[in-house]
Amino acid sequence: MEILYKSTRSDSTPITASQAILRGFPEDGGLYVPTSVPKLECTPAQLAKMDYRGVAYEVMRLLLSDYTEEELKKCIESAYDSKFDTEEIVPLRKSGNAWYLELFHGPTIAFKDMALSILPHLMTTAAAKNGSGAEIVILTATSGDTGKAALAGFAGVEGTKIMVFYPKHGVSSIQERQMVTTVGANTRVIGINGNFDDAQTSVKNLFTDKALVEEMARHGMQFSSANSINIGRLTPQIVYYVYAYTRLLADGVIEEGDPVNFVVPTGNFGNILAAYYAKRMGLPIGKLICASNSNKVLFDFFTTGEYDKNREFVLTSSPSMDILISSNLERLIYHIGGDDPAVCAAFMKDLKEKGRYTITEHMREQLGDFVSGYADEEQTAQEIRTVYMGDGYVIDPHTAVASSVYRRYRSETSDGTPAVIDSTASPFKFEGSVMAALGKDTSLPDLELADKLSEVAGVPVPKAVSDLKDAPILHDIVCDRTQMKEEVRRFLGLTDQA
Ligand SMILES: *Cc1c(COP(=O)(O)O)cnc(C)c1O
Repeated sequence: MEILYKSTRSDSTPITASQAILRGFPEDGGLYVPTSVPKLECTPAQLAKMDYRGVAYEVMRLLLSDYTEEELKKCIESAYDSKFDTEEIVPLRKSGNAWYLELFHGPTIAFKDMALSILPHLMTTAAAKNGSGAEIVILTATSGDTGKAALAGFAGVEGTKIMVFYPKHGVSSIQERQMVTTVGANTRVIGINGNFDDAQTSVKNLFTDKALVEEMARHGMQFSSANSINIGRLTPQIVYYVYAYTRLLADGVIEEGDPVNFVVPTGNFGNILAAYYAKRMGLPIGKLICASNSNKVLFDFFTTGEYDKNREFVLTSSPSMDILISSNLERLIYHIGGDDPAVCAAFMKDLKEKGRYTITEHMREQLGDFVSGYADEEQTAQEIRTVYMGDGYVIDPHTAVASSVYRRYRSETSDGTPAVIDSTASPFKFEGSVMAALGKDTSLPDLELADKLSEVAGVPVPKAVSDLKDAPILHDIVCDRTQMKEEVRRFLGLTDQA
């Protein structure tokens, strides 16, 4: 069955999956959603016999139905290979009452690798399929994690160039070091004198700069987006929910058809939305437990029906969840509003103009699968200690938010359904917060602290961190936001009169 994509905000002609991946987002400012949600065709028992790549193909072929078998398998094989430090790609680790799904074994040791390692291949394939032949230019503004994962994904991929802008004084030293040591002639990393919002706004303006876009077209280039709203990022994230279920089945923890709860540390709502689609595709998921940090805009939404971003922005130890506008929530709003673009567009207009909206009672009734909770800074640190004291397992602060929320959910509801907690980052990526939570000395330099954490956790320092030791700095450009366009033109070798 052919699955097409249309906007959450207006009735335009549906387009194919490859076109949606290439464009990133529709012109009306909405997001692409599938016109129908396909059902899994293999049973969990059949899937349980496959490896990660096999499951990925069986899930993704249903949603990316205009890719041929050969095209999609090639994308999957190029993505989920020895870049991951384990054959299993995403191991499940039991600790206490829950299974931790380790989504951090890719090149940048955070879960963004799950999607960004395949997106470049889906995109270049899409360009070839749609006969555009143009070179794809990715522009990204990053607050830390996405930038390096996108760089790692696109570096060296033929037919693409990637440029990442980050706030020069707004990322952690490990994060900056990861980015500025990126190898690859098609990559460029630039620090901005300004904050993340400055970088983000300027990148958005460049995407729609008509003169620049036309100049690029004359030179056979086109922009695309590696942002988490691209369906080329959403689709690969559905895979690991199905995969986790089949591993529990293979291990005899559950029988076919038994429900499993998933607990997701949430920011932009992309990861948990993938779980929602997995459930709609027929995977027996019980509850979708949405965990927030102190920026608990989603917790308030699920408990009151009102989404309100007018509040203080809190900096936490789980920075990848420090978000007040969860972009991907728009897709859920669209679906619970009866797949009606007019309904969705009205809420999004309120969000833009007033910073808030309240969904209807009828829409709230459809959120029965979702449970929501949050963990503040003290609860997060406490959770890192509690899990460590249990069996020596060390988790990162993002994972700890989810783990803490689950611990309270389980004791308050006595819901004993097997639960999988998404572990979204390696503790080595946030070693300062982790070591502080465990009461250790954190005054050491980054890389020495990593060695200490390795002793404490009983696991080796990941290559992504140890490689930084001798990696030369290859990117040292810093500019003002007003100079970003010139930097883009220079990188792309554009010489027309500006
Ligand atoms: C991006 C990120 C999240 C949040 O995921 P969303 O899809 O934005 O909800 C959680 N943890 C880590 C480590 C991340 O990098």
